[in-house]
Amino acid sequence: MQNTAHIIGAGISGLSAAVRLANANFKVHVHEATQQAGGRCRSYFDAATNLTIDNGNHLLLSGNRHALAYARSIGTEAGLVGPKRAQFSFVDLASGQRWQLDLGESRLPLWVFDRARRVPDTGLMEYLALMPLIWASKGRLLGDAIPCRGTLYRRLVQPLLLAALNVDPPEGSAGLAGAVVRETLLAGGQACRPLIARDGLSAVLIEPAVRLLQEKSTSVRFGHELREFGVSAGSVAELKFGGDVIGIRPDDAVVLAVPPRPAATLLPGLKTPSKFRAIVNAHFRFDPPKDMPPILGVVGGLVEWLFAFPQRLSVTISNGDRLVDMPREELAQAIWRDVCKAGGV
Ligand SMILES: Cc1cc2nc3c(=O)[nH]c(=O)nc-3n(C[C@H](O)[C@H](O)[C@H](O)COP(=O)(O)OP(=O)(O)OC[C@H]3O[C@@H](n4cnc5c(N)ncnc54)[C@H](O)[C@@H]3O)c2cc1C
Repeated sequence: MQNTAHIIGAGISGLSAAVRLANANFKVHVHEATQQAGGRCRSYFDAATNLTIDNGNHLLLSGNRHALAYARSIGTEAGLVGPKRAQFSFVDLASGQRWQLDLGESRLPLWVFDRARRVPDTGLMEYLALMPLIWASKGRLLGDAIPCRGTLYRRLVQPLLLAALNVDPPEGSAGLAGAVVRETLLAGGQACRPLIARDGLSAVLIEPAVRLLQEKSTSVRFGHELREFGVSAGSVAELKFGGDVIGIRPDDAVVLAVPPRPAATLLPGLKTPSKFRAIVNAHFRFDPPKDMPPILGVVGGLVEWLFAFPQRLSVTISNGDRLVDMPREELAQAIWRDVCKAGGV
C-alpha cells in the first residue's frame, strides 16, 4: 500500500519535503494556512514600483548543496544564476575604497594565501585567527570564539556573518557561524559563487514545485490551517483544521514545516527560537548603471548589500530592529544616499 505523508506549511521547507516524498512514491497532502505558497521565500506584485519583487533579497551561495538539489529536483537549477567565479565587489563608504574579493574556482581556500586576492590590508594571521570557528560548539558566542575587530572582521567577517545569522555577529552562535564558514569560505571559491533567483523567488523556487506536485496528484490545499494535533498514545492521531478533521494512521508521516511561533503553539513544549530580528529591504525603481555589479557589499554605511536587478536597485539591511520604527520616507532617503554613494548613481 502507498504510504501517506501530510505536510503542514507550503514554505520552501514544506515544498521540498513534499517533492522528496512525492518522488519517493508517497501519497502527499500539503496543507497551507494562507492563500499562497512560499512563506518567507516568495515574490509579490508591488504597486509602488509596478514590479513583481521578492519579499526579501535572497542570496544563495553555491555551497548550499541542499538548496541546489531542491532546485534541480523541480527542474529550475538554471534559474539560479551568478558569476562563474566567486568574485564579490565591495565598497567602504567611510574611506571610499573599492575592492574585489576573488575566491577563485578552487575547492580549497587558496585565495587566503594570495595577497592580491585577499581583502585589502589584511594579513594571513587574521584569517588563521578565524580557525576556532571551525570546531566551535552551538552554545558558544561568536564574540567569545574569534576577535570581532580589525580590518578582516570589518570588511568580510562582519558583512558575511551578519547576513547569514541576522544578528550582530558577536552575539551570534559560533557553531552556526562555523557551519557557514566550513561550507563556504573554507570550501573554496567553488562553494562561494553568489546565486540569485533571476526571475524571482516564486518563479524559480515555488511555483514550479507546486505545479510538479499537482502533476503528481499531490493535493495542495490553501487556506487550510492546522489548528491542533489530536494525540493518542503519544502519537499524532488526527489533524484538526477547524471543522475539518483528518485521521492519521500509524504508518502515515506528518511533517511540520511552519515557523517557530505556530510550531510552539501546535506542539507545546517544543524548543524553538524565541527572539527574532527584522531584515529591512528597500526597493527603488531605477535602471542600474551598466557597470554596476549585480551584488555589491557595502561597508561603513547603513546599507549592507546592494542588488542590481533589471529596472530596480534593491537593498538589504540585516539585524534591522533599530530601523523599523523610523519614518518610512526618512529611512528611504537615508538608504538612497548610501545607494548613490555605493553605486555611483
Ligand atoms: C527578508 C528575508 C531575507 C532572507 N534572505 C535569505 C537569504 O539570503 N538566504 C537564505 O538562505 N535565506 C534567507 N531568508 C530566510 C528564508 O526565507 C527562510 O529560511 C525560509 O523561507 C523559511 O522557509 P520555511 O518553509 O521553513 O518557513 P516559511 O517560509 O515561514 O513557511 C512556513 C509556511 O507555513 C505556513 N503555516 C504557518 N502556520 C501554519 C499552520 N498552522 N497550518 C498550515 N500552514 C501554516 C505559513 O503560512 C508559511 O507559508 C530570508 C528571509 C527573509 C524574510
